[in-house]
Amino acid sequence: MSTVIDGKTLASKLRFSIKQAVSELKIEHNIVPGLAVVLVGQDPASHVYVKSKARQTVEVGMHSFEHRLPENTSENELVDIIEELNQKPEVNGILVQLPLPDQINSERIINTINVNKDVDGFHIENIGRLSSGSSSLVPCTPAGCLILLRHTIENLSGHHAIILGRSNIVGKPVGQLLLKENCTVTIAHSKTRDLPSVCQRADIVIAAVGVPELVKDNWVKPGATVIDVGINRITDSLGNKKLVGDVDYESVSQVAGAITPVPGGVGPMTIACLLQNTIIATCRQRQIRIPPAIE
Ligand code: NAD
Repeated sequence: MSTVIDGKTLASKLRFSIKQAVSELKIEHNIVPGLAVVLVGQDPASHVYVKSKARQTVEVGMHSFEHRLPENTSENELVDIIEELNQKPEVNGILVQLPLPDQINSERIINTINVNKDVDGFHIENIGRLSSGSSSLVPCTPAGCLILLRHTIENLSGHHAIILGRSNIVGKPVGQLLLKENCTVTIAHSKTRDLPSVCQRADIVIAAVGVPELVKDNWVKPGATVIDVGINRITDSLGNKKLVGDVDYESVSQVAGAITPVPGGVGPMTIACLLQNTIIATCRQRQIRIPPAIE
């Protein structure tokens, strides 16, 4: 039976350090970091995420600004709102909740955000900085995966990691982070041949495909560490709605050395890393040292 990697507890510890950092910024510099979240449309899952982000932002002592816009908002209207937020000194981080409605080009919107306020780390310049190994605002879910891995494996150097999924928001940036840790990285995707046997060779499996319970026990090397990024809402054979990951937890937890649950693994780390990025962004904008609590 595997060790369960408890993302909920680790995220709560990280939020505690963030709270300390926020109070240090207030005492030493009279600064209260501010995070603006922009939500367009009625997607129910997005509304849940935004509510949770706003609540946790306030809980750590930062200012939260919410902009809820109607489904039919035009691309130019959204650009105008972001440009206003770019100018506001009290807004240190800007996050536009994805997905956006079809009439809006997400790439244009993300690249309109001031690169130093891009706390999601999706701006083309931040992606470039991450790829070239220079410091940047790192996408939150990949940053969360790295914290979970560092907590589980003392030295990541030389480990073979397979990442299932090559999206810009999870798969590719996780790959960059693990290369920086001197892992040997394989990025697999929907066109990879014989995925189970490629996966079987890895010491670390990161599943970010959006396919419920795709990864089975015979895909995983005994003792491997498994990080499940997937969040899939399914209805089981008894008609009950439930949340599952991209990994078949029941079977894989019998062979893996350590595994994240869904929920309670990667999910809580994502918001904690967003709050951490907001502090990093604030300190860069004001050209002050990042408080040691989160360094
Ligand atoms: P995406 O749809 O953008 O990308 C999915 C990737 O998986 C693609 O590269 C595709 O090639 C690959 N893929 C699809 N089917 C495959 C298969 N059968 N075999 C191998 N590869 C396959 O998805 P995403 O945005 O990266 O999200 C992935 C999952 O992670 C989703 O379940 C999403 O909800 C979840 N997610 C969770 C968090 C979190 O905070 N925990 C954050 C972001 C995404």
